[in-house]
Amino acid sequence: MVTLKVASRCNLACSYCYVYAKGDETWKRRPPIMSDETFSAAVRWIRRQTSVPITLLFHGGEPTLVGAERFDRWCREANDVLAAQGVSLAIQTNGLLIDDAWIDVLRRNQVSVGVSLDGPPQVHDAQRFDHRGAGSYEKTLAALRRMTAQGVAWSILSVINFDHDPVGIHRHLVDEVGADSIDYLLPDENHETVGALHERYGPTPVADWLIPLFDEWWQRDLIRIRVRVLDSMIVALKRQSAWTGQFGNAPLGYLIVESDGTVEGLDVLKMIRPDMADTGLTVWSPQPIGIGLPELHRKASLEGFPLPRGCHGCREAETCAGGWLPHRYARENAFDNPSAWCTDLYQLFGHVRDRLGTAVPLAYAADRP
Ligand code: SF4
Repeated sequence: MVTLKVASRCNLACSYCYVYAKGDETWKRRPPIMSDETFSAAVRWIRRQTSVPITLLFHGGEPTLVGAERFDRWCREANDVLAAQGVSLAIQTNGLLIDDAWIDVLRRNQVSVGVSLDGPPQVHDAQRFDHRGAGSYEKTLAALRRMTAQGVAWSILSVINFDHDPVGIHRHLVDEVGADSIDYLLPDENHETVGALHERYGPTPVADWLIPLFDEWWQRDLIRIRVRVLDSMIVALKRQSAWTGQFGNAPLGYLIVESDGTVEGLDVLKMIRPDMADTGLTVWSPQPIGIGLPELHRKASLEGFPLPRGCHGCREAETCAGGWLPHRYARENAFDNPSAWCTDLYQLFGHVRDRLGTAVPLAYAADRP
């Protein structure tokens, strides 16, 4: 997957945003909107780098800031240039600018739509507000309603909020909003930063949040609602190998192109050090990424990391397998550490193991994409 950061600014100022609220200032020196020339260079760079089917994720900032007309043009160009290898288009948006023109473009280009929504208004608006502090829930919900009415499918991305009841949030997203595919994201913390959350919420806040959610989902929603983080755990346990980038050491297989054509690795690593996502490459660089990427990003994207030494002998070494790479970071040993959420993950996997001891319903398609 290649993430195209087609807009480097956002119409929201979310409190937890890893781009704008956690010390990264690299966005300030980039063009607010990717130029047509840079977009063309990006899709041609992708074609030079790989011949396998690829997903292009339009991201930002807020990607709808580029405007529906330009987005439509870019989708058609990507489909033309990458036709031989096959391309899937996706967008991750806050939904605020999704109007009928956008819906038409999204439908025509068969773009998968991910929308960020953290729960009911009091949960969502406490974290996802605009630059004047106004909440965004109503506008996001209106966009979802409009897309549903016009037959455009969407999924929800929701950041875990320890201040609020997980079951209440989940029921709101499923029963009130109508979501049938949700991903709950673990907070982006590492060993240098997680202490503040432990002080505030206790030793296992992620497990305390996700275990009741798992039980609710298992009882009521298992067949009809996809919850990606929980699906991933079940599949990891059934296969005895980690399945997605959220767990394990498989190569993540994605890179990021910033709005100025700079190629970066995992952008969340900028929370550790602003230059940590740098690769030294741009979409105009002639060398193949297999040669040009620095070791950190070559391993993260193409080769995979070894199991952290601290995970050897763990019951979950094959399933959790160290958790997600950015969560492993500490000044000591860099990424060769168990996840900062290790205790949580161990409890969670144990809980899911116990539930899997009961029969998994036949209709449950654990490998669903
Ligand atoms: S639970 Fe902890 S020790 Fe075990 S694999 Fe996961 S991060 Fe490593």
